[in-house]
Amino acid sequence: MDLPAAKNLIEEYVKDLIDVCPHCGAKVHIEKLWNTHHSFSNGDVEFYVVFRCRPCNKLLLKTYMFRQNRYTNSTNLEAVGWDEKFPLTLDTELPTGDSKYIPEEMLSVR
Ligand SMILES: [Zn+2]
Repeated sequence: MDLPAAKNLIEEYVKDLIDVCPHCGAKVHIEKLWNTHHSFSNGDVEFYVVFRCRPCNKLLLKTYMFRQNRYTNSTNLEAVGWDEKFPLTLDTELPTGDSKYIPEEMLSVR
């Protein structure tokens, strides 16, 4: 798929999920708020999706990877799946390398 198709996949199919909240430590309902993406020089694309935990109201960030087909020069992305989740533990600090992709207002939303 091309980048618009990948964006559409995230927009249309990632809504609310059941996942373990790193803040309350329980398997809970998390609600998608917002997403953006970052393209790597090798063509891979990583989406950053911000969710809010319904029970505790805190934010978490999950990343979703698309891998570029190395055998073509055109955009040909394959959905790989969820990759990382932040905060990793009971920790409200994002690593600087990750937080730079998130607008300030998203980090301060309560
Ligand atoms: Zn929670």
